Amino acid sequence: CGIVGCIGRGDGTVDVLMAGLRSLEYRGYDSAGIALGPSMRVLRKSGELDELAEVVETTEPTGTYGIGHTRWSTHGPPNDRNAHPHTDETGRVAVVHNGIIENYAELKAELQEGGVTFTSDTDTEVVPHLIAQALDAGDDPETAFHNTVDRLEGSYAIAAIIDGSETIYAARQGSPLVVGVGDDCTYLASDVPAFVEHTRDVVFLEDGHRVIATKTGYTILDGDREPVDVDVETVSYTA
Ligand code: GLU
Repeated sequence: CGIVGCIGRGDGTVDVLMAGLRSLEYRGYDSAGIALGPSMRVLRKSGELDELAEVVETTEPTGTYGIGHTRWSTHGPPNDRNAHPHTDETGRVAVVHNGIIENYAELKAELQEGGVTFTSDTDTEVVPHLIAQALDAGDDPETAFHNTVDRLEGSYAIAAIIDGSETIYAARQGSPLVVGVGDDCTYLASDVPAFVEHTRDVVFLEDGHRVIATKTGYTILDGDREPVDVDVETVSYTA
């Protein structure tokens, strides 16, 4: 139900993600989680955000960029194994998703026929497996992300990290997703409150837009993978 992401904040990443998730609590949720790079560490928990915060406190995960999620279940009951982020079998890919992937059943059947084992009941889990399959087929991470998003039908805001590339990949189709433009960092979220204490400069994405964010900046692409010119708006928002 809520997505956050940030890259360029170094060791402050975990705190930024957790504070971002807190500010999206008003949207409602039943589970929460984060994934961090470059460690590819995934922490997720059903229940209150406090439960995830406790796991974060006891395990002290490290990361210099990452993504986070609050889940409002549509496919699969609210439990730990259905909480996002979802990963592929090798843990190279971590994905958070809001919305519904309408064609997940056929994608899941295809992946299972190819020998992939699923570990959740969600529609979302097809996404990391598809990205991993594309990587295995020789795609570079960005191409693997694009080729995967091209196959999805339905409504989604998606954010992914892929081992070995210090990048956050994101896509928007029918679910909200905004980019926060910081001085030396880029934020991603379902809604402005998630990062407004850090920046008021915002790009409001349109359906079909994809975001490639690195430590040094961000690029917005359309569904044909062509760069789009976007306006950065300064919001007058009080947290
Ligand atoms: N359809 C996904 C799930 O059930 C995402 C739900 C959401 O938007 O949080 O896990």
